[in-house]
Amino acid sequence: MNNLLEIVNQATFSQLVLLALLVNFGIYGCSLSLYALLTRFSTSRPMGEKQAVLRSDILLSLLTVLCNTLVFILGVLLWKEGWITLSENQQGFRVLLEVLILTLIMDLLMYVFHRSVHLLRYFRKVHERHHEHESTNLLSLFVLHPIESIGFGLMMLGVILLVPFSAPGISLYLILNSLWGTIGHLNHSVLPASWLKLAKRSYLCTSEFHYLHHQSPGYNFGFYTSVWDVLFKTIHPSSRI
Ligand SMILES: [Zn+2]
Ligand SMILES: [Zn+2]
Repeated sequence: MNNLLEIVNQATFSQLVLLALLVNFGIYGCSLSLYALLTRFSTSRPMGEKQAVLRSDILLSLLTVLCNTLVFILGVLLWKEGWITLSENQQGFRVLLEVLILTLIMDLLMYVFHRSVHLLRYFRKVHERHHEHESTNLLSLFVLHPIESIGFGLMMLGVILLVPFSAPGISLYLILNSLWGTIGHLNHSVLPASWLKLAKRSYLCTSEFHYLHHQSPGYNFGFYTSVWDVLFKTIHPSSRI
């Protein structure tokens, strides 16, 4: 990982832009492929009507990838300028602990951000586009207003500006984030009933959890866990334990 960081550190601005595009379009491609695979091999019935893939959704999803690319470039520049410090931690257990801490911090911030965009009138307009998907498809995760994608990115940069996480910890968190977002927007249940019960009891968000948010936008604002929905009484009756 240190060699990779050294290469990024030595890269020119145009090389950095190319790297950022490759990483973010790579994440986009992996998410779409995983979605298609899980849907293809799912044995359960779709949770809702088939959500049509519109041309405007494709364009907006590409704009989201470009916004994420901008945030990536900003993050690397802040690191190069010494504003973001990376911890030297490379040990497996400590990296996993970092991923857990970063996920829990982001879980709270994303709950607050998501609930706010539903409550505040101006931001409600911003978030409306995502909720045009009453059911979900492979692009739903990326059908976001640029304010939302940049807002999420800046929130994450704010956290790593304040707390020095390691490069492997941040990378693993970003992979987990894409995986969670992809599974959250599946229109199929992928977990067996017993696993689903266990996930519910462990306060983990599932495809069913986020699908209910698209159906009933007054409930289930959590992204990784349902803890804040339980505490603030915004949990959907069907998601309660
Ligand atoms: Zn959604
Ligand atoms: Zn929402």
